[in-house]
Amino acid sequence: MLVKTRPPTGANVEKEQVLKDIEAYYKIIQKYEYSNEDEIKRIAFLHKQKQKKLDEKTHLLEEKDSVSRKTSHLEADLHSIETKLSKSNKAISSVSTEKELNTLNTQIADASNEKDKIEIEILDLYEGDSQLDKSLSETETFISGINETISEIELEIDNTTIENNTKIEKLQEQIKGLFLELQPEEQRLFEIAQEKHGLKGAISHLKANSCSSCRINLSLDLIQRIKKRDLILCPSCSKLLLHDS
Ligand SMILES: [Zn+2]
Repeated sequence: MLVKTRPPTGANVEKEQVLKDIEAYYKIIQKYEYSNEDEIKRIAFLHKQKQKKLDEKTHLLEEKDSVSRKTSHLEADLHSIETKLSKSNKAISSVSTEKELNTLNTQIADASNEKDKIEIEILDLYEGDSQLDKSLSETETFISGINETISEIELEIDNTTIENNTKIEKLQEQIKGLFLELQPEEQRLFEIAQEKHGLKGAISHLKANSCSSCRINLSLDLIQRIKKRDLILCPSCSKLLLHDS
């Protein structure tokens, strides 16, 4: 049977334009939908940073707790040494032999040495504790800074999303209107392609005798039909194939 090729009719060209318009609108919608991607990534990064700082804070609090326990022990030791020293000092006035005096003096010297040592250790712990307080306060400032930045970005995302959703709704209305301009059979094919590839990926193009999406080489018959502006689905990926002129 002789198949007579005919030039694309006005209706076919219009149909192709409708589909191209739909495709273009979907691309704009996609842009709007992904417009917050960078901000979302930034928030994820900030949450990681915040978690690091929260872990640091927990660690610092544990260290502070340990320093405080050590300090309490040493302060108790110091107290008992001071009591001992004061008793020994009092006892010195009532010693009767030189041997007793010597023993007491040795005890006093030992206790004084021990006292000095403990006092130094306590001072070191105080110093360590104030360093920990400083680090803790820096960490807390950092965390509240991160929280503030996250809130700001979230607010920005919310605002953009509200704006974008309004724009997307309008575009979807326009797409609905364009879709109704297609013939039922064309609508059916478009729906098949959309079902498989989602709303935004349903259209492919004829590029150098191949499908621009899956790159399969198309048969001459198909190429001719596409060139005639017949609406067909790619035999490989099932996208709607449009002729790019
Ligand atoms: Zn394909």
